[in-house]
Amino acid sequence: MNNMIQIEDLVFEYTRDEDQKHVRAIKGVSLSIERGSFTAIIGKNGSGKSTLAKNINALLLPSSGAVYVNGYDTRKEENIWDVRQSAAMVFQNPDNQIVSSIVEDDVAFGPENLGVPPGEIRIRVDHSLKAVNMYQHRKKAPHLLSGGQKQRIAIAGAIAMKPDCIVFDEPTAMLDPKGRSEVMSIIKGLHEEGITVVLITHFMEEAAEAERIVIMDQGKIALDGTPREVFSRGDEIRAMNLDVPLTIELCHRLRKRGIAVPENIINMEEMVEFLCQYK
Ligand code: ADP
Repeated sequence: MNNMIQIEDLVFEYTRDEDQKHVRAIKGVSLSIERGSFTAIIGKNGSGKSTLAKNINALLLPSSGAVYVNGYDTRKEENIWDVRQSAAMVFQNPDNQIVSSIVEDDVAFGPENLGVPPGEIRIRVDHSLKAVNMYQHRKKAPHLLSGGQKQRIAIAGAIAMKPDCIVFDEPTAMLDPKGRSEVMSIIKGLHEEGITVVLITHFMEEAAEAERIVIMDQGKIALDGTPREVFSRGDEIRAMNLDVPLTIELCHRLRKRGIAVPENIINMEEMVEFLCQYK
């Protein structure tokens, strides 16, 4: 199968503890994610992004419909390790993902659970720590590291599982700007190496770095396309209470004031080129 992830008419309902009422978080989503691609998923709080990510990782199973990861049907119990080894997950809060008191032990945790032989674990741990520029901190205690460094350790833990795909659920939400840009450059590097990346984010500038943007709204896919296609629909995006990247907003406001800004501008560089005509 050429698709890394194949989601077919997925419906997911939570049952609330208090009153046993069903909350339908995903209301019929079909989505194919190509092997080696970089997809950003955006949408306002409560639109179902995390629920979708957890269905990809088999942390949650479909109420109806199906999710296939690397061809493995997540509903089949015997597939669970193949699913989780194919698509690793990195969450928002690095503190909740770090389990050991030494950085390199933490990175080894995933492959140990997969039963990888010790010699191979050593190789994977060193490689993963180098990939996130944290090799020199391998003997440190994670709690002494910054938020961005801890998140890079969590990413190294995911890389050490040798997954084909990594699903990032708002990995930069708790980081300062420096930590955010470090983590984003690692994510882009992983994509360049051929790993399929799914990035849930509420930062539009991060989403603009992806090849494809999927916008979720009320448990459904509202828009799906390249950043250029999606951001050209600024009015619809604003109507979903989402921001658009700064450059797009600037284009929009200039057009409202009667300046004929071309439709194809989406990034800062293109905007600068356009403005320089008026030198
Ligand atoms: P997002 O990641 O876009 O913020 P979520 O997937 O977290 O959205 O949530 C989608 C919907 O599911 C929301 O209405 C939310 O309140 C509900 N929900 C999320 N987690 C639970 C849960 N554990 N129990 C009940 N409802 C939940």
